[in-house]
Amino acid sequence: MQTFFESPLSSVLSKDHFTPKSLNFFQTYTLRNFRQIPQIKRLSPEQIEAVEVVGRVFPFKTNNYVVNELIDWSNIPDDPMYILNFPQKEMLAPDQYDRIAGLLKKNADKNEIDEAAMKIRWELNPHPAGQGKNIPIHNGSKLRGSQHKYRETILFFPSQGQTCHAYCTFCFRWPQFVGMKDIKFAMRETRLLIDYIKNHPEITDLIFTGGDPMVMSTKLFATYINPILKAKIPHLKTIRIGTKALSYWPYRFFADDDSKDLLHLFDKVVRSGMHLSIMAHFNHPRETEPEAAKEAIKKIRETGAVIRTQSPLLKHINDTPALWAKMWQAQVELGCVPYYMFIARDTGSHQFFAVTLEEAWKIFKNAYQKVSGLARTVRGPSMSAHPGKVQVMGISEVNGEKVFVLRFLQGRNPEWVGNPFFAGYDPHARWLTDLQPAFNADRFFYEAEAAQNT
Ligand SMILES: *Cc1c(COP(=O)(O)O)cnc(C)c1O
Ligand code: SF4
Repeated sequence: MQTFFESPLSSVLSKDHFTPKSLNFFQTYTLRNFRQIPQIKRLSPEQIEAVEVVGRVFPFKTNNYVVNELIDWSNIPDDPMYILNFPQKEMLAPDQYDRIAGLLKKNADKNEIDEAAMKIRWELNPHPAGQGKNIPIHNGSKLRGSQHKYRETILFFPSQGQTCHAYCTFCFRWPQFVGMKDIKFAMRETRLLIDYIKNHPEITDLIFTGGDPMVMSTKLFATYINPILKAKIPHLKTIRIGTKALSYWPYRFFADDDSKDLLHLFDKVVRSGMHLSIMAHFNHPRETEPEAAKEAIKKIRETGAVIRTQSPLLKHINDTPALWAKMWQAQVELGCVPYYMFIARDTGSHQFFAVTLEEAWKIFKNAYQKVSGLARTVRGPSMSAHPGKVQVMGISEVNGEKVFVLRFLQGRNPEWVGNPFFAGYDPHARWLTDLQPAFNADRFFYEAEAAQNT
């Protein structure tokens, strides 16, 4: 888009002016250098302390695009895009916060602080929903960088895609970004993966995920894609790429040095006869507002790829129906397809971001009612739990008992999918494991089998 290059980066949201060396100069900010962000002078000493303290426990990274184009610096500390990247005091329990703050105040040495931070991380449920399980095995070799949980889909975690252009404060993958290596997925080559898929004719979808696979250079990403195209596996119909780059670094798709090559690669996938689906992670309508985001979406769509969108529901960031309706509507206008609304996982800073299942359902329903059928491709609210993806369909009353109506959108056993089931109503429940079966049943219908498979 010519006009975009002619006009300088417009800082519509912030008065502080910050000019990157060039349009696509990617500058990250972490604990080491975040004080250099010009807008930081708007933070109070307490807010800066919160970043210093909480940023020792959780991963913290933002970048010049997020700082200049997404965050509304006139709305600190409540701005949702600020909360999305900058560590918040309330993400830790008061005693956890005080432990780290105390060490920083007395200038404790780095090892002591790291040790205290690691102890707190272990208090924060770093391994929710059996992550690290479902590792496929091919001819006796474990495919370490992949996960085959649902029959038709295999997840693949390329080893060089295990970071992101910025880190979301709520991310359930936080342990892998802070060096808790035993749960870091990694896989260097695609040969085993291809053999495994060839041997599993039920697999139709290969999902590249991370971190964010779009942090890889095109050249590197092509070393994964090209062998897969070359293998021409007849039952493999779709390649999906899970990414937040459209929100955190849209220049990836039109202004980086290798953007053109990336679009060519997308085009090549599509021309090979496969479906290419970009699973874009958007949490807030603001993320699709900048010209750069619109341009990136347009360029991707021109390759024939389809962009589907997904997001968790998060307190302090997107917990109103009006916001979701606006977000879905904007996505549809840009040619994207709303796909999933997730319930945030019980890990890390969960208590800060969590809403109850009842609230989640009400927000989903009220938002869903406000949009046309084209945005009702979205499904949710959904929990990616141990037995599968469970949707909260609603709250109802059966024989005088108030119940949650649930169903599997995905299940370890495909036969579980689509059958409504019931849990006792609980106004405080925030996750599947908080629920009890309704009607005095001693377990949920899927539990006997799920117990055998763990
Ligand atoms: C969500 C998910 C998938 C993809 O499921 P779809 O419903 O097809 O989008 C695949 N594997 C895992 C582990 C998942 O959580
Ligand atoms: S972009 Fe995705 S993987 Fe990266 S921090 Fe955000 S939610 Fe986590």
